[in-house]
Amino acid sequence: MEGVTTNVKVMGGLNESLVVNMIRRRGPISRVDIAKLTGLTAPTVTNVSGKLIEAGLIQEYMVGEYSGGRRPVLLKANSEMVNMIIVDIRSKEIKGYLINGELEVAEEICHDIRNLDKDKILSLVEDTIAKCYASDNGKLAMAIGIIVRGPVMSREGLSLFSPSTGWHNVPLKYIMEEKFRLPVFVENDMRAMALGAYHYGPYRDIKNAVFLGVGGGIGSGIILNGELYRGLGDSAGEIGHTVVDVNGPACSCGNSGCLEAMASETALIAMVTEAIEQGESSLLYEMVESNINAIRPEHIYTAAGDGDLLAIKALQHVGRYLGMGAANIINIFNPQLVLIGGGIVKGQQFMEETMKEVIKERALGNCYSSTRIEFSTEGRRAALKGIVDLVMEGIFFSLK
Ligand SMILES: [Zn+2]
Repeated sequence: MEGVTTNVKVMGGLNESLVVNMIRRRGPISRVDIAKLTGLTAPTVTNVSGKLIEAGLIQEYMVGEYSGGRRPVLLKANSEMVNMIIVDIRSKEIKGYLINGELEVAEEICHDIRNLDKDKILSLVEDTIAKCYASDNGKLAMAIGIIVRGPVMSREGLSLFSPSTGWHNVPLKYIMEEKFRLPVFVENDMRAMALGAYHYGPYRDIKNAVFLGVGGGIGSGIILNGELYRGLGDSAGEIGHTVVDVNGPACSCGNSGCLEAMASETALIAMVTEAIEQGESSLLYEMVESNINAIRPEHIYTAAGDGDLLAIKALQHVGRYLGMGAANIINIFNPQLVLIGGGIVKGQQFMEETMKEVIKERALGNCYSSTRIEFSTEGRRAALKGIVDLVMEGIFFSLK
């Protein structure tokens, strides 16, 4: 392991970085395809991949039936040798993993963070990292990746504002690097999901795509020309805080009428809770034994599946506003794909039609006609893939 770290440190420049990232994302892959996809010449790819093999970062790999002629030799990454600690700070819990680049989990830790204050949550993040580090093989970790909800300045590792933890301007990267002396990479959950869904899914040949993540909040990852677009201050993609109704309800950001306040799972819960309080009947009331504060998104999807009119109506409402959000995205970016992900996907069958109708109505024809609208069922695993990708890219890039 130390060998790999040392060898990464002595690696060369941009070409090495291009080739190694291509191989770990798309491998097993042939040298010819690497040349095609990176635009490097065949001799350069041969030269660079030779160095990478020597450094132990990649290896040759034989595949397929032998059907005469030359057997194809492909290249694949030694990602199983790259270990890292990942902390996923979700709305109700913190999950910690000691994991390798192949997403094999060696250690998993979970803490409930409901009803905890912001300082306690921060110390639990430290605690989670410390426990992963102290586990068997924890010392093999080369870096730390942190997924956090809400706007993040990724390069600085700063959580600007996180609704699930109550954090404002928390310098996660600085704090954890001081404490653990390992490089720390921080990303917002929706952008991590976008990276994971994009680089490791069926969409990676699409150059322009927007991943719209809808859970407790709404965020997005914007892929422009095959790269995540980060914006000047590294906080691009906050589509959840674009206003879709000037008279709309208050949003967690302090503004009002934001898409997130109209179409997130939080908004979904608020909508059904308010309707029940005003006397509307619903299966939900019995599902939570009259304690309407206990309504969770899962209850609403289940109730809708059982034909509950209130739950269906609420999901259609969400579909309408997500349609507006998606239409805005389509008009601005003219992407090939808008991929909807996050918890809301469980309500797909109740909102898809409304959503697509609204998109068709509101998006300009020439922008809309070539856009695919799809749902991703990958869930949180996409975020994990995304942060692992980000950490690996960071390791290879920062050490070169
Ligand atoms: Zn907002």
